[in-house]
Amino acid sequence: MYTKLVSSVLFPIHELIKRHSSVSLRRELEASQWFNQDKLAAMQLAKLNQFMVNIAQHVPYYRALFQELDFVPGQFKSVVELANLPLLDKAKIRQAGSLLQADNAGPLTLFNTGGSSGQPLQFMVGKQRKSHDVAAKWRATRWWDVDIGDKELVVWGSPIELGAQDHLKQWRDRVFRSRLLPAFAMSDQHIKGYINEIIDYAPTMLFGYPSSLALIARYAKRHQIDLSTLGIKVAFVTSERLFENQKALISEVFNCPVANGYGGRDAGFIAHQCPHGGMHISAEDIIVEIVDKLGNPLPAGEIGEVVVTHLATAEFPFVRYRTGDLACLGTDLCPCGRHLPLLESIEGRTTDFVLAADGTTMHALSLIYVLRELANVAEFKIIQESQFHTRLLLVMQSDIDNASIDFIRRNFHQRLGDIQLDIEFVSQIPREKSGKFKYVESKVGATWDYA
Ligand SMILES: [Zn+2]
Repeated sequence: MYTKLVSSVLFPIHELIKRHSSVSLRRELEASQWFNQDKLAAMQLAKLNQFMVNIAQHVPYYRALFQELDFVPGQFKSVVELANLPLLDKAKIRQAGSLLQADNAGPLTLFNTGGSSGQPLQFMVGKQRKSHDVAAKWRATRWWDVDIGDKELVVWGSPIELGAQDHLKQWRDRVFRSRLLPAFAMSDQHIKGYINEIIDYAPTMLFGYPSSLALIARYAKRHQIDLSTLGIKVAFVTSERLFENQKALISEVFNCPVANGYGGRDAGFIAHQCPHGGMHISAEDIIVEIVDKLGNPLPAGEIGEVVVTHLATAEFPFVRYRTGDLACLGTDLCPCGRHLPLLESIEGRTTDFVLAADGTTMHALSLIYVLRELANVAEFKIIQESQFHTRLLLVMQSDIDNASIDFIRRNFHQRLGDIQLDIEFVSQIPREKSGKFKYVESKVGATWDYA
């Protein structure tokens, strides 16, 4: 009853006030997910051509680029021709700055992300894109027979300090029945409290990092706390690679299926799993290409880097944006009957845990957020040599002042306790063999092994 009120009255009003069009978009998406492949492809192509014409006209960066390439927008015969355009990455976005902003853009919000690469990125997000991402997420939620307004418990990172904006969000979350537990406070004491809150709140759905939900599940299992009868319908996980043992553990303890989602603040809501197991790409707005190390497109079934073109980003375009994640396109259709293409073998999201001096297992994000606060940190890597010794490698964009160093030390010690912290300034940080950047390396042990 309350869910229906929220989903069909309160949330639509909220979106109307924010001038978001997510309500009508969701309805369109729920129709187009059943389109056949030809119809979907035609729709995608038409949107892509329109998008290209738009950004050529209004975005200085693309106006110049297309001129330089002698590229006439709006004439693609197939989306594969996108591959003729250059790739976009974080460095290029940083360099282009406001040139990526459309001259006819509506109000834009500044977004910040460290991504899984640890390199900070600032970019702008318009209302159109927000609406599309909300609508795509909303549609995926409904695949699992839950809706906005159903009680949701979120285990997620949150900013270090809460501002006025967050109080508004807290109020909104109460109305929409979403409750947040911070993912970087994961000591046994915290987890015990979280479990009590979960029992007390009895959510319909869980949402969080797989590693965090698995940590809670492991604690409950170890202490024989029964969470199987709370009526949880589904656990949504995202932002990290979902390991099979985590999936099994979460599913067993909460007595519900685990639904994986893939996307990012930068790249958007890329793909989501349906109850039949397929990771469906939000193909109406997002074109996914898989490319090799040289940037050449790979056929379905071959693993490479995920490159995303988000068609609702005309106000600050993401065209052939390199996510840094590895995956492949599926070769088959999902048995659910939706023709939205599938993404498979998503390898690239391993957010590590670290161990504090007092034995607390902690999400590495608690340290990463500290570094994200400092704008001139270009790259970082946290290496936990032992429980009592951590090295922090920093690549700076400009000189760091003493206040910033104190800030890092204070916050790291607050989280890791009484340890030796070596801060080392380097000119570059080597990548993993796969090409992937691992921003946290803990030599203390495989703390995510829940088996
Ligand atoms: Zn499916």
